[in-house]
Amino acid sequence: MDTAWAVRWVRAAADAVAEHRAELVDLDRAIGDGDHGENMDRGFTAVREKLDDEFTGPGAVLKMVAMTLMSKVGGAAGPLYGTAFLRAATSLGDDDASAEAVAAMLAAARDGVVSRGKAEVGDATMVDAWTPAVDAAVQAASSGASPADVLTAAADAAQTGAESTDALQARKGRASYLGERSIGHRDPGAVSTVLLLRAAASAASA
Ligand code: ADP
Ligand code: MG
Ligand code: MG
Repeated sequence: MDTAWAVRWVRAAADAVAEHRAELVDLDRAIGDGDHGENMDRGFTAVREKLDDEFTGPGAVLKMVAMTLMSKVGGAAGPLYGTAFLRAATSLGDDDASAEAVAAMLAAARDGVVSRGKAEVGDATMVDAWTPAVDAAVQAASSGASPADVLTAAADAAQTGAESTDALQARKGRASYLGERSIGHRDPGAVSTVLLLRAAASAASA
């Protein structure tokens, strides 16, 4: 997994966020302040404009994403995804990444989200997508899967994890202000996490 993959990933992520902007807004309108789709689209539009720069390796691409999201995306998601991409960049480095390195990168990203936001699995946040994704990725890598298959396993597990937030009461972020009324709604950040991981997988299979 090299620089070209990272650039394809980020471009695919920007496409997915733009395509799903209204869906993310609707999800956030139900349990938050309705800006998650705009926040993410603003951030990834700024990221897209920098994708023609020269990069020293895949880690440098992800570091650019981190810095851009931190400066352009307000609210909770900016610092959370900014930290995720920054930790991912450091973990990945600028050499071509193996399946194990890809799984380790996802674990580093998840750990960044947790250290920043202090949410646990079951709190109905993006952590409910990230953590099963990491578990599936580590498992796939240790059983000899390719990097593309590691990322597909991660995206599939993230999707199931995002669906699991439907039944959960939110305990972190704005949605937690609703108390029990947050039950029955899917967490928007968990859904955007699925989009980002699906983009990574599709870029690896391309
Ligand atoms: P804001 O809530 O500030 O308007 P966004 O709408 O962009 O920010 O992002 C909301 C998403 O951020 C939520 O759906 C949730 O996934 C995530 N989130 C909020 N707080 C936390 C937290 N403490 N830990 C992990 N994720 C969180
Ligand atoms: Mg919001
Ligand atoms: Mg907001």
